[in-house]
Amino acid sequence: MPVNKLRRKLLKAIPLLPAFGMLGCKWPEKKDSVTMPSTAIKHKAQDADSIRAIEKIIPGVATSDGAGVKLRRYIGSRTLDYLDPFLLFDEFSSDDPKDYIAGFPPHPHRGMETVTYMIDGRVEHGDSMGNRGVIGKGDAQWMTAGSGIIHSEMPAMEKGLLRGLQLWVNLAAKNKMNQPRYRELKAAAIPVVNSNGASVRIIAGEYHGTKGAFADIAGDPLYLDVTLRAGVRFAVDVPKTHNAFAYVLEGAGNFGESPEAVSRKSLAVFRQDGNATLLARAHENELRFILAAGAPLNEPVARGGPFVMNTEAEIRTAWIEYQNGTFIKSKARIDERTG
Ligand code: MN
Repeated sequence: MPVNKLRRKLLKAIPLLPAFGMLGCKWPEKKDSVTMPSTAIKHKAQDADSIRAIEKIIPGVATSDGAGVKLRRYIGSRTLDYLDPFLLFDEFSSDDPKDYIAGFPPHPHRGMETVTYMIDGRVEHGDSMGNRGVIGKGDAQWMTAGSGIIHSEMPAMEKGLLRGLQLWVNLAAKNKMNQPRYRELKAAAIPVVNSNGASVRIIAGEYHGTKGAFADIAGDPLYLDVTLRAGVRFAVDVPKTHNAFAYVLEGAGNFGESPEAVSRKSLAVFRQDGNATLLARAHENELRFILAAGAPLNEPVARGGPFVMNTEAEIRTAWIEYQNGTFIKSKARIDERTG
């Protein structure tokens, strides 16, 4: 959804792109390839020495994107540029329509995925290939841009409320130019597991043997919406090499063994310490949080606003194709429209 504010400038400045630099461009050192565990995500709580520590707690930065939508950014900022494979994590929420009414008018994406999850309100979605949809309260959309889509996303309140989340997930080089794809999920179709004071909506991944609604996603991601009753302790195991974060929606609690409280509108980053168990504990009130994990790609990242590729040359190609009308390679499909 978010389009870098410099997009318009960049479009006018295509010949200057190499000098302009790639927005958010990062070239991590090449790491030895690691063997990823298979798809199994277990749920059992383990002994203390398997518990993932907390690297840092991020309050987010206020910013705006699209046509002037005010939002709060947690990943994809100076504080946390990249949590491989997560490129960006935003919350947009406001009681004032002026903060979002201009929305995110038609803009392109290539080389990554956007995951939109609505806590309240809705986003009206459409693209240049004729796909249309509404992501309502509790609904989710997993959009794989692949080789490219041009879409619009327009937030709107419902019952006076608007609160949505968008996560960007990077695609491996081998998947960046795949056919684009939308997967839509209505709230009622998201599996919920209730046990021991925890209510877990499984958007992707697996919890307590129940698979999430979105399956067959590259990188074996976990995306849970977890609500814990006061004082409840919760644990889920992920592959040891996955990166992970928790984002608090309501209440306050602790993550890992960290004594530092994490409260509403803060994001806790789990340290990559080779441990499998992600742990959360609610304080004296109910705690609601998003828990996300994914396999790191360990590839070079070249960012150009809404495009995320491996090299600057690929970013230049995307901008040039967007300008000259050859950007769309394949019609986007809506798959698995559920509920
Ligand atoms: Mn978008």
